[in-house]
Amino acid sequence: MELQYLGTAAAEGWPALFCDCRICRHARETGGKELRTRTQSLVDGKILIDFPPDTYAHALGYSLQLGKIKHLLVTHSHMDHFFPVELIHRHEHFGHHAEGMLHVYGNEAVEEAFYGAVLIDRFRVHPLDEAVKFVRLKPFGDFMADGYHIIPVPADHDKREQCFIYIIEKDGKCILYGHDTGMALSREAWDCIFSHKYGLVSLDATMGKKQTDGYHMGLPDGIAFVKLLEAQGCLQEDTVKVINHFSHNGEMTHQQLEEFAETHGMKAAFDGMKVAF
Ligand SMILES: [Zn+2]
Ligand SMILES: [Zn+2]
Ligand SMILES: [Zn+2]
Repeated sequence: MELQYLGTAAAEGWPALFCDCRICRHARETGGKELRTRTQSLVDGKILIDFPPDTYAHALGYSLQLGKIKHLLVTHSHMDHFFPVELIHRHEHFGHHAEGMLHVYGNEAVEEAFYGAVLIDRFRVHPLDEAVKFVRLKPFGDFMADGYHIIPVPADHDKREQCFIYIIEKDGKCILYGHDTGMALSREAWDCIFSHKYGLVSLDATMGKKQTDGYHMGLPDGIAFVKLLEAQGCLQEDTVKVINHFSHNGEMTHQQLEEFAETHGMKAAFDGMKVAF
């Protein structure tokens, strides 16, 4: 299995759109891995995770043929994870030869945002019935997509909606995709997470050096999370552990995140990073 990190920033981007803090200034001056677009990932070039406003830039930058993608997992409705108005461009009028149906999986808030964006008057002449189909997910309501077994697990994030993290399995390989979430997960969520063995664990690191009590995670939480997985026998010797979804408010540069990750046997994600396992 392969996971590519197309974007690795939190909602405001990195550098943040309107920010001139030390971290953002450093990012602008240094460039390269210090620049991040909003979080989005791609599994084996087939399963897209989240749909931020930077999706178009990702398609350009990585030469993606998004018209071939048939499955999009959405974690929650925050705009850095779901910017649904772009989906209108999968209609044949704009997206020639887009293959079959794009299935968009998400919670009720994602569903509302989807229909709110694509059913507006201006777009009624280009209905998406043949191009994009929304599929509402329930907590732990697992399903198959293109040979992948996918489990939506309730996250510890915005309480106004049922945010999901995802477990994605195929051919004995397994990913835990844990963005955006804190560690205050339900007993059922932990049980579900503990009942798998992972080749790749991708954890929220929005808060950087800070420890938080939910909603997101900082680096100390990431270490604690990995310890829990270890204790439950969920990790193999070669499990790849990645921290991802970074904010300038975490007060660390990419280089510092990389150094931290290395000393703890992890990888700090950067835009374009590929992990094969
Ligand atoms: Zn986010
Ligand atoms: Zn900043
Ligand atoms: Zn969020």
